[in-house]
Amino acid sequence: MSKSQVTRRDALKVLGATGAVAAAGTMPIAMAQAAPATNGGGFYRFKVGDITLTVLSDGQSPPGNAFPNWGATPGKQAEFEAAFRENFLDPTKFVNNFNPMLVENGNNKILIDTGRGGTGGQTVANLARAGVTPAQINTVFITHGHGDHIGGLVTNGQPTFANARHVMGETEMQFWLSQATPPANLATLKDKFTLIKAGAEIAPGLTAVDTAGHTVGHLAVQIASGGQTLWHLGDAGGHAILSFRFPDHFLGFDANPQNAVATRAKLWQAAAADKVMVVGYHFPWPAVGNVKRSGNAYEYVPAFFTF
Ligand SMILES: [Zn+2]
Repeated sequence: MSKSQVTRRDALKVLGATGAVAAAGTMPIAMAQAAPATNGGGFYRFKVGDITLTVLSDGQSPPGNAFPNWGATPGKQAEFEAAFRENFLDPTKFVNNFNPMLVENGNNKILIDTGRGGTGGQTVANLARAGVTPAQINTVFITHGHGDHIGGLVTNGQPTFANARHVMGETEMQFWLSQATPPANLATLKDKFTLIKAGAEIAPGLTAVDTAGHTVGHLAVQIASGGQTLWHLGDAGGHAILSFRFPDHFLGFDANPQNAVATRAKLWQAAAADKVMVVGYHFPWPAVGNVKRSGNAYEYVPAFFTF
């Protein structure tokens, strides 16, 4: 039996479709799932050293205007549009991706961000496709408190990942809880969270990286094993083209544009120099690649999809 057949059968079991298991070998995966059919199956698994990483698609937004939110820097709108066109993209039909990631290190299953939740979020469905149940997740790490990252924390008033330690940056959590109306999911689960500082270990092999700017206490995740390093950038990455090509590029969603720009400059310099792989939460699927220097700026080089 091939590995993919095993995974498919496990996914069916996970969904409780026991009656369909015998037919799983021939059943198109889309028939067995509640989520709509997805090119590439909705998860992308690869290794960094001994650690297994699985990017999980939470789905995509409908096409919409890229600007100003995905390129908010004043005076650069025409250059940003030209960069889109040069990459064969229509800036009026920008499709946003949402890419949480599962990290499997020994017995630990760590989920980085939870997607949008609700009826649109597909993280749990694609986790099932990858053969993992929400109950198996033993750590949930939240990069920052925006809805597209925390929306999947709670389902029907209960924690979606019932057996997990919940971990988040202290500065970030304090910021959101100090708001007049804190995000409901953070307020609901606030006593469940372990709050950490940049540089702390999230779980074995995973370290929190200070990437303030997009939000006041944003943390990215460094994953290191076997001499290889990868960063899940969360939203410190911004846009896959503009945030690399234009050193002063920032997003409409960046809380502190200057800090966001400075953080990106540091990240890209180090990623290019040390060949650190990156995963961008909003980069085009499967959102894994490297960073290289290009003149006075940088370029994101997507990894080739491997099976
Ligand atoms: Zn986001």
